[in-house]
Amino acid sequence: MSIEKFSCAIVGAGVVGLAAAFVLRKKFRNILVCEKHTSFGRETSSRNSEVIHAGIYYPAGSLKARLCVEGNRLLYAHAEEYGVPYKRTGKLIAAFSEAEGRELEGLMEKAVKNGVTDVKILSENESRAMEPELSCTSALLSPSTGIIDSHALMASFESAVKETDSLHAYGCEVKSIEKSGGDYILNIRDADGEMMQIAAEVVINAAGLYAGEVAGSAGFDADGPGYRLYYSRGEYYKVNGVKPWHFKSLVYPTPDVDSLGIHIVLDLRGGLKLGPNAYYVDDVQYDLDERCKQDFFDVGLKYLPGLKWDDICPDMAGIRPKLQAPGVPFADFGIYEESGKGYGGFVNLMGIESPGLTSCLAIARHVEKLLF
Ligand SMILES: Cc1cc2nc3c(=O)[nH]c(=O)nc-3n(C[C@H](O)[C@H](O)[C@H](O)COP(=O)(O)OP(=O)(O)OC[C@H]3O[C@@H](n4cnc5c(N)ncnc54)[C@H](O)[C@@H]3O)c2cc1C
Repeated sequence: MSIEKFSCAIVGAGVVGLAAAFVLRKKFRNILVCEKHTSFGRETSSRNSEVIHAGIYYPAGSLKARLCVEGNRLLYAHAEEYGVPYKRTGKLIAAFSEAEGRELEGLMEKAVKNGVTDVKILSENESRAMEPELSCTSALLSPSTGIIDSHALMASFESAVKETDSLHAYGCEVKSIEKSGGDYILNIRDADGEMMQIAAEVVINAAGLYAGEVAGSAGFDADGPGYRLYYSRGEYYKVNGVKPWHFKSLVYPTPDVDSLGIHIVLDLRGGLKLGPNAYYVDDVQYDLDERCKQDFFDVGLKYLPGLKWDDICPDMAGIRPKLQAPGVPFADFGIYEESGKGYGGFVNLMGIESPGLTSCLAIARHVEKLLF
């Protein structure tokens, strides 16, 4: 029995898998994007802050630093060209004490090393001139930070790819991958529960939280270093009702080791949220409860004077696929072309947490360079 053959198969239609298909659409005769849900972006790519990061926080030379800085530029250009709604809001990292003020100097140095040269430190008065409701002691201004409509971004990638001979197969879960001669055979369960097989010369594993499982099914050591994923949950609280606060910029605290800290999240419709927090979990589970409400309320009071307990309620949760184990200070994106392990043309994308949305086009270009 002959099976359908594609030049490239991408596992996962989150923002990274879709961006890879978009960038590679001219390099491959036909691409199959396989997604287990019935449409794109149902997991991490629609459960985030939608922030276009500048690239301030990450160690110089890391993939996170390089791909975020490049991705920021590419994403603004793409949004402009394809009509994806976005806004260059700018961002303030606010210090509320002298010690935090000194941290801003370290962040500024890091940013400049990463090539983010437009940042500057604002005094208390300068910060207040920008955001009158913010009572911080100083702040780091990042003018190139912004927000983007992540759904419209993913739709723009999908529709450009639809104009080629490539295909998005929704409701199709990749159950395992085998090597067969020069090809890879993907065993897929389709939307009717039927099993089918396709062959591909190149495979890109962009399965996000499940990238370890997909890699494991192909024979990689999913529990080994560089593949084992840790899940870090982040929740958001919506600020309800009439809002007397009028922030124009995103406002962040100084970061901690696991996350950028609960911050003011603005969306393109004028909505205001607080989030996300960060704590390690064992499972992918998006249910909401009010267990963390006190933390959100305490942080909220710092930014939103007069905030009342009933002004905030749980909004959504997302989960970061991290290579960073609890207690470890930093782990980079893991982007591997696996020829060295005997899997030529197989690319694993591991630990694509924040700034993965910002970096999506730069990650896709990086994958292109690894393959060609
Ligand atoms: C709380 C939070 C806040 C964040 N904020 C930001 C931010 O402001 N800015 C930023 O740049 N980044 C942010 N991020 C990170 C960003 O959201 C992610 O890096 C990005 O969405 C990852 O995209 P992805 O395509 O790799 O993964 P996903 O969106 O998870 O996509 C993977 C896809 O693979 C599919 N899949 C999995 N297994 C299979 C299988 N076996 N067969 C078929 N399909 C499969 C899944 O269904 C899913 O659709 C945040 C993340 C979180 C959790």
